[in-house]
Parts: sequence; C-alpha cells; structure tokens
Amino acid sequence: LIQLSVPLNFIGFIYREIRQGLTDIEHMFDLLSVKQEVDDKPDAKPLAIGAGNVEFRDVHFSYDPNRKILKGVSFEVPAGKTVAIVGPSGAGKSTISRLLFRFYDVQSGEVLIDGQDVRDVTQESLRSAIGMVPQDTVLFNDTVAYNIRYGRMDASQDEVRRAAELAQIGPFIERLPEGYATMVGERGLKLSGGEKQRVAIARTILKAPPILILDEATSALDSHTEQEIQAALDLVSKDRTTIVIAHRLSTVISADEIIVLKDGQIAERGTHADLLRQNGLYASMWDRQREATEAEERLRIARETD
Ligand code: ATP
Repeated sequence: LIQLSVPLNFIGFIYREIRQGLTDIEHMFDLLSVKQEVDDKPDAKPLAIGAGNVEFRDVHFSYDPNRKILKGVSFEVPAGKTVAIVGPSGAGKSTISRLLFRFYDVQSGEVLIDGQDVRDVTQESLRSAIGMVPQDTVLFNDTVAYNIRYGRMDASQDEVRRAAELAQIGPFIERLPEGYATMVGERGLKLSGGEKQRVAIARTILKAPPILILDEATSALDSHTEQEIQAALDLVSKDRTTIVIAHRLSTVISADEIIVLKDGQIAERGTHADLLRQNGLYASMWDRQREATEAEERLRIARETD
C-alpha cells in the first residue's frame, strides 16, 4: 500500500499543478524530472557556452523500439542564425526540440552545442542556455508581472516593463484594470492565444538565452496580431541561435535555412527561394497554405460586409 501511494500522490500533485494552470512547458518538465528519462553523468560539467552553435549529427531516435521517429538527421545552426523546421504533422519536428533540451537521449548520433555533447553536460546548465517559446503558454495564476518575471526572477520592475514593450504587449498590459498587478491565468483574466504568446516572448527576452526554440502556433491569427508577434519574435531571435518549428510563411521566408522533415528524414533543405525552385514538397506545402490563407481572407471579408 505504501508503495502504491507514492506514485498516486505524485500523480495527484501533477494533476493539481495542471488544474491550477501552474505550468508551462519548461516548468512541466521540471516537475516531471522527478522521474526523468535521463540522468547527469557522474562527471557531468556545466555547458561551456560560447557563441551558441547547435549541431545534430546523424541522429536516430525512437520513443519506443518498434517505431523509428528520426532516421539519421544531420543539420547545423551556426551561432546567431535561424533554421526553420517544417513538415507534415508527426514528422518529428517537436522531437528535435526535445532532444536539444535532452528530455530524451538519442539512440545513435550526437546532439552538440558549441561542440559539447548534450549527454556530457549538466541538465541544469543545458536548460538555462535554451529558451523556449511554446505554441501554447499556460500562465501561472498570478500577476502579469510575475508571469513575465518568471524568465529571470531577480529582474527589476523596469526590466519587466521593458521586456513587455519589446514583446509588443506593453500597451495592452497598461490598459488592464490593474496594469502589471492584474491577476491572469485560469482563475484570473484569460488572455488570448496571441497575448499569451507575447507574455512568453517577454519572459524569454528577460531570460536572454543564447539559444532559442520557437514553436509557432498552427492556428490562424489575424494579420495584425501576426505582424505584432512576428515583430516581437524577430527582435528576440536577432543575433541568437534560433530553431523555429515554423507554420507561417513570414517566418520561413527570412530563415537562413529551411529543413523539410518528412517521416523522420530531411527531404529537402535550402532557403525559401532554393526550395521554391526545386518545386517539390516545400513548394506544394506553401501553395496549399497560400490558397488556405486566401480562402480565409475571402471568408473574413464576406463576413464583414454582411
Ligand atoms: P506536429 O506538427 O503535429 O506537432 P511533429 O512533427 O512535431 O508534429 P512530433 O511531436 O515530433 O511530431 O512527433 C513525432 C512522432 O512521435 C509522432 O508520430 C508522435 O505520435 C510520436 N510521439 C511524440 N511524443 C511521443 C511520446 N512521448 N511517446 C511516444 N510517441 C511519441
């Protein structure tokens, strides 16, 4: 009975945390790391972060032995550059970000940051070098200020404000009933997807990590919100090594390299112009996306003129 009650308590704890909205991706993995998939090596050293070069070298990975997810993926993100990963649902895009964070270990190959294998460094140092703007940020049941300050707990009120301005959410917060002291989250003011994402961007601006992972929302945003978010993202990813799981044309057009992932392998790679010229998977993906966007736009105009 005692043996059983421990995991049940633990599950109850996680459940309550989720219920309270007390969770974002990084925090969630902090919680889950109580029973983590990977351990620090006894001689693990802190990551010696230099310029922030990221490299995947012939990475093979599966969550369970019967189903291969990544089958020999190699790419490099030179320090300060942006690589966009695109591809059909289930291709393994998010898996790449999980392996960079070392939530799992590769079966073969290597994931390197500034030449150091992520398996040789402490997880704490690894995770503090990487910032994540997730698709859907779950906010803490606390003030807006706290939710931004979570990026760096010792940040001053001024720094919190500046980060919010840079993330294009400053004016919105100023207009809230109690400004930065407004309670948000499940039991407070509910923010829209785009607003929550900008809070996550402000958090990341405060954290100022050398390496950044952006997981773009798949859901359509109106074009004004999309422009604001794009401006905030451009700012936060400037001069930072950035991997973006991209769903929007505007992001991929400006990426230094685009990797098209299909069935766990790189099917195509190059710049936006290169890939359009190849007239393959990428070109047909964006044709379809453009048609969908145009159809949505027509629908919106029709609704407005009704
Ligand atoms: P999407 O665009 O839909 O988010 P993705 O390209 O990011 O997809 P991944 O999340 O990397 O895809 O998942 C790749 C495959 O691995 C999927 O088929 C998924 O079902 C599987 N998978 C993901 N996480 C796990 C897990 N924890 N255990 C087992 N299988 C998993």
